Amino acid sequence: MPAVPKKKTSHARQGRRRTHLFLQPTALTPCPQCHQPRLAHRACPTCGIYHGREVIDVGAKARRRQERESGDQQGR
Ligand SMILES: [Zn+2]
Repeated sequence: MPAVPKKKTSHARQGRRRTHLFLQPTALTPCPQCHQPRLAHRACPTCGIYHGREVIDVGAKARRRQERESGDQQGR
């Protein structure tokens, strides 16, 4: 026989257990560089700055798209 609960869990006890089961709002802090909201201890996705240094090339994706589009036009 498997392990079986000896007593029924009351609605109150079940509710008390579930007091911790809720989602917390994501803690966002303003970026010191561009003042957009960003996650704490993460590089800013808007300007790519972390700790006063650029660590992400934010414009790279847009530039690649531009290059691809101009390349298509040259192919025609
Ligand atoms: Zn920023």
